Amino acid sequence: MTALVVRNGRVVHPDAVVVEDVVIVDEQIVAVGKNLDAPAGAREIDATDCWVGPSFVDLHAHLREPGFEHAETILTGANAAAVGGFGAVVAMPNTEPALDSVAVVAYVLDRGANSLIDVAVAGAITIARAGERLAPMAELAALGVRLFSDDGTGVQDAALMRRALEYARPLGVRLAQHCEDAWLAAGGSMNEGSVSSRLGLTGRPALAEELMVLRDLELARATGGRLHLLHLSTARSLSLVAQARAEGVDVTFEVAPHHFTLDESACATYDPVMKVHPPLRTKADVEALRTLLRDGELDAVATDHAPHVPESKDRAFDEAPAGMLGLEHAASLTYEALGGVDADPRRFFALLSRGPARVAQLRAHDVRPRHGAHGGDVVAGEMANVVIFDPMKTYVVDRDALQSRSTNTPYHGRTLHGQSRATIVKGRVVAGEGVLA
Ligand SMILES: [Zn+2]
Repeated sequence: MTALVVRNGRVVHPDAVVVEDVVIVDEQIVAVGKNLDAPAGAREIDATDCWVGPSFVDLHAHLREPGFEHAETILTGANAAAVGGFGAVVAMPNTEPALDSVAVVAYVLDRGANSLIDVAVAGAITIARAGERLAPMAELAALGVRLFSDDGTGVQDAALMRRALEYARPLGVRLAQHCEDAWLAAGGSMNEGSVSSRLGLTGRPALAEELMVLRDLELARATGGRLHLLHLSTARSLSLVAQARAEGVDVTFEVAPHHFTLDESACATYDPVMKVHPPLRTKADVEALRTLLRDGELDAVATDHAPHVPESKDRAFDEAPAGMLGLEHAASLTYEALGGVDADPRRFFALLSRGPARVAQLRAHDVRPRHGAHGGDVVAGEMANVVIFDPMKTYVVDRDALQSRSTNTPYHGRTLHGQSRATIVKGRVVAGEGVLA
């Protein structure tokens, strides 16, 4: 038996924040309350002034294995997630080969089972993510896959996307779309507008994203299929989704920390670390995302963690691959964007844990092979997937001290606020204060 007592933290329940102790024995929370007795031999963690809530869940992590292990592996990606406070991530399918078959998905799930956290999988919607033929979604759903995506690109063919939504519906799974019209976005390396003109770079227009958002909302409406929109980045995208939700369309969506932290002016250095798809947008878009984050209808913050080896990022801006690291700093950036010391901890855990766990179907009552329960309340009987988040912690990002195998973080040298003091997965402290336990 192993026992752990988290003392005197501010326990963040869905509707209340209460200073109390949490007693964990083996994989379970066994008691939550004031001045609890410690089981014999228990380790104690002083959590005074810290937030204690369900460990974070990331809907959008590129773990790069199989195929790109020089950039990241399932184990190093899981380590980065653990340091970031995550107890579970959804691994995206743009690997080589893509996650479009039982054999490859089973491989990733097996590798994930040997990592520090829970690794769920998003299966590909189409074979090889080529956008031509549907992947065997029913077979993959039987393995526990609940999200499907061709992320990296969107499904361009509207008829195929309609068929995929129809096919997915009785399986109880959700299709996660990377919204960019490939033709409108073609050749672009940053947001299209006055800044891209001044820098002499070809732009990817906001319209490339918004047109696919609009198309897919209508396809979801017509089919009754379940849709999730990945990394929405423009004010107009947000208003389109809000309207469709109000009208009853079954759509969930996420925003990424870089889109509510950085704007297109960051590209003025021509540093390829700032290149990402969809691109960093205008200041007005960033403001719209930040307003939504604080009090709008939003399911999740998701990282779009996208490691790249230095050789590939050491190219001209328009030739470099798109994507930046996210797992290790997402919680700090979310805390800051929610207002720092004024942030509402209930909102923080809603966006980083409870919401994404609902979308990924990782909660206790979701029938799901292989994975533990996430995003629940911190109460007796729940699985002990818990994070102790220290909102007063301040640290400086050092790209050479990351758990990720890659270094392409746009936040190098930046001072961030708030950090996981202890990430607890199935009752075991796996990481904290920026390092593995
Ligand atoms: Zn994407």
